[in-house]
Amino acid sequence: MIPYGKHLVDEDDIDAVVDVLRNQFLTQGQVVPQFEQALCEYTGAKHCVAVNSATSGLHVACLAAGVGQGDLVWTVPNSFVASANCALYCGASVDFVDINASTRNIDIDSLEKKLLQAENRNRLPNALIVVHFSGMSCEMQKIRQLTQRHSIVLIEDAAHGLGGSYQQSKIGSCVYSDLTVLSFHPVKSITSAEGGAVLTNQRSLFEKSLLFAKHGVTKDAAQFKGESHGPWYYQQLALGYNYRLSDLHAALGLSQLKKLDAFIKRRTEIADKYNHALANLPLKLQIVDPQSQSAWHLYMIELTQHSRQAVYQQLHAKGVGVNVHYIPIHLHPYYQQIGFKQGDFPVSEYFYQHALTLPLFPSMTDSEQNQVIDTLIEVLS
Ligand SMILES: *Cc1c(COP(=O)(O)O)cnc(C)c1O
Repeated sequence: MIPYGKHLVDEDDIDAVVDVLRNQFLTQGQVVPQFEQALCEYTGAKHCVAVNSATSGLHVACLAAGVGQGDLVWTVPNSFVASANCALYCGASVDFVDINASTRNIDIDSLEKKLLQAENRNRLPNALIVVHFSGMSCEMQKIRQLTQRHSIVLIEDAAHGLGGSYQQSKIGSCVYSDLTVLSFHPVKSITSAEGGAVLTNQRSLFEKSLLFAKHGVTKDAAQFKGESHGPWYYQQLALGYNYRLSDLHAALGLSQLKKLDAFIKRRTEIADKYNHALANLPLKLQIVDPQSQSAWHLYMIELTQHSRQAVYQQLHAKGVGVNVHYIPIHLHPYYQQIGFKQGDFPVSEYFYQHALTLPLFPSMTDSEQNQVIDTLIEVLS
């Protein structure tokens, strides 16, 4: 079975991890700061806090943004549940803005309308979490214009986006946002096994992120309330968590980061080939915003004449491991129990009914891709 995604770990990566095991601190050593520095250099962001997953990173970003009890956070239904759960962890409520049928990212018109309604009802969100679905950036400049006038904190869930860019800047640069969260889960652009990062250009958000990711504890005397007791002293200033990344994981991430551009180049080649080979099939292919270079985390097709269920089963039977992204968050039983219902976000629901994710990963061979293409043509004819 050709999987829809797969990590690519080589001897350099293994050596980097073994080197930490043999010679260095397993956690709280020098490798995590090196990884954070390298992520800043790659993305252009000023500050980075490495964490043990993007899920932790989204929680930390919400906490740093000041999201708390009684607050409101908006995100999109077409994402993994972590994009919404982070707000609930903070005691806030969640609501969704539907996606655009072409970009599958947050729909700008829907956002504008919903903001107007929210303003009239005096219930504006405290934060908005946008998702760069499949690796293609949302229209960040427009989103920033809309959210800035209401002082809504803008968070990018860039779990799919590392290696992509928007308007000449790398995703993660935070040019149009307050915070960006990355994931290093094995199916994402690069992996640290489990891992994530919070990026920001704002010193105060960085300091808060650091605090919440490390028990709410600081050793920075400048932040102490009252006098230091001595060189051993630290203070807990907030209720934080242990969301640290270990040096073992950071060593893998740092080694992988060196190969990120090569991974994205190969992902782009595969996507281009799909675009050409599938152009005449009864499918809606992914569009790419001319302002964007996608990281091509996922290659989506939308079926226009066939049953998704049938095509999924036929492809699996023939060894093509297609997947489905995403079950809209508001349709999960947990979110239904909170009060969301079928029909609330029709564009996400329609997309979910017709979408398939084709195999795409850097180590995919030409012959594997040809097999996917030929099988799909056969199944759809
Ligand atoms: C993978 C993913 C996450 C969660 O990432 P973890 O590192 O596994 O916690 C969050 N949001 C989106 C959009 C994702 O795809």
